Amino acid sequence: MKKKLEQLKSLLHEITDLNHIIAILGWDQQTYMPEKGAAERGSQIETVTRIAHLKYTSDELADLVEELMNQVNNMDPDSDEACLIRKTHHNLVKQKKVSTEWVSEFARVTTVAQSVWEKARANSNFKMYQPHLEKIVSMRRDYAEFFAPYEHIYDPMLDDYEPGMKTTETMAIFNVLRPRLIQLIQEIGNHTQVDDSFLHQNYDEPRQWDFGVDVLNHMGFDWKRGRQDRTAHPFTNTFAMDDVRITTRFMPDYFPSALFSSVHEGGHALYELGFARNLARTPLADGASMAVHESQSRLWENLVARSLPFWKFFYPRLQRVFPAQLSGVDVKSFYQGINRVQPSLIRVESDEATYSLHIMLRLELEIAMLKGEIAVKDIPEAWNERMQTYLGITPPDDALGVLQDIHWAFGGIGYFPTYALGNVISGQIWQKINSDIPDLDQQMEKGKFSGLLTWLRENIHRYGAKYEPQDLVYRVTGSKITPEPYLNYLEKKYGQIYSL
Ligand SMILES: [Zn+2]
Repeated sequence: MKKKLEQLKSLLHEITDLNHIIAILGWDQQTYMPEKGAAERGSQIETVTRIAHLKYTSDELADLVEELMNQVNNMDPDSDEACLIRKTHHNLVKQKKVSTEWVSEFARVTTVAQSVWEKARANSNFKMYQPHLEKIVSMRRDYAEFFAPYEHIYDPMLDDYEPGMKTTETMAIFNVLRPRLIQLIQEIGNHTQVDDSFLHQNYDEPRQWDFGVDVLNHMGFDWKRGRQDRTAHPFTNTFAMDDVRITTRFMPDYFPSALFSSVHEGGHALYELGFARNLARTPLADGASMAVHESQSRLWENLVARSLPFWKFFYPRLQRVFPAQLSGVDVKSFYQGINRVQPSLIRVESDEATYSLHIMLRLELEIAMLKGEIAVKDIPEAWNERMQTYLGITPPDDALGVLQDIHWAFGGIGYFPTYALGNVISGQIWQKINSDIPDLDQQMEKGKFSGLLTWLRENIHRYGAKYEPQDLVYRVTGSKITPEPYLNYLEKKYGQIYSL
């Protein structure tokens, strides 16, 4: 058994190495590769992907996992080894159910759909994109059938991003979230809006960069184990236990964009840098799920870096960097400005209070399309109706409405809920941290974040992908994923900012 386990690990090490090589090729493509390198880079990524896939689908791996699964019940269920065997088994079983014809056709369909989506969005022309989305939805229905009988048609897709999580559980969480968020936003709308005009001034890019680095240093980002570069869309990429890279983007006339991107991606990176070393080069050196990953980035971005204690420390430093822009703005006004709530059309630009409503709308439409309750041709209208109901605004065209996100075009139905679940989990974790570290606010006011990072490492990061998200959240907080702590946090914070 020990020998079999070693064989499994060494196969998984090779596969993980190949996946990290693919990540390096992709990162370079988005950062430093000269434009004309794209064609051959595409073939390189395809070649390495094919080799990794062959290894992953080999009989050797399948046989090893089958044999080890027979013995997993004799092992300590929380051991790294038992978790590794179960995780690999779960992934292989899922993969085996889906036909190879479906996989290659879906790759073809979504490649075309993405380039059509780009043009459709540029021209705000949904009709152009509609047949491609119809095909994707129909293929996603076929995908669900590979997993029949299922409890909910959406379950197999959600499970790809949130292992073990059920659609009914997600809907139950959102059903609590939705009315209270709508009410909160309406109440805010009835009160005097806060001023954020001072954020819309010219902020010199090199000084923005340096301030972001100062914040990342205080968060505990280790520059010997990572770096930061510029890209059009910020992301985090992991190449190794000790090599995790983040990117950010700068807007010269809007200060928060680069800073909060750096902090958000920094939160993702700290998670990746916190996995226990025993998990290296295996599928367990990964986040527990997309939502848990997002809980880490959003915890740093919103609960930490949009808090008053954080700015009590950082604001005098920021004022020294940008005296002309900020010398006449006090810390409280600054704090209110960066937390301004304003229903808006674009998900990625939306604030903390409205963000989750953008997600719920998408989840509802995904399910309605899969079930055939709303025809794809009627989706733009259904989108606009919900925008009006939830946020009180109607997109003037489809580019600012149904066409804004790439997710459906790459086939990622099932992905959206993970963003809002991440918010919800961040609220639960925050509540637990504050009861374990009662003077956390005072620590943050002094610019000390090491207590927070240590807590996150010990309670969440080191486990990597050993546990499914519901299991992990239960272990950490003593309760399954529940929206109450997050709602209480939002209602208290915005109640104060807007004197509700
Ligand atoms: Zn993120």
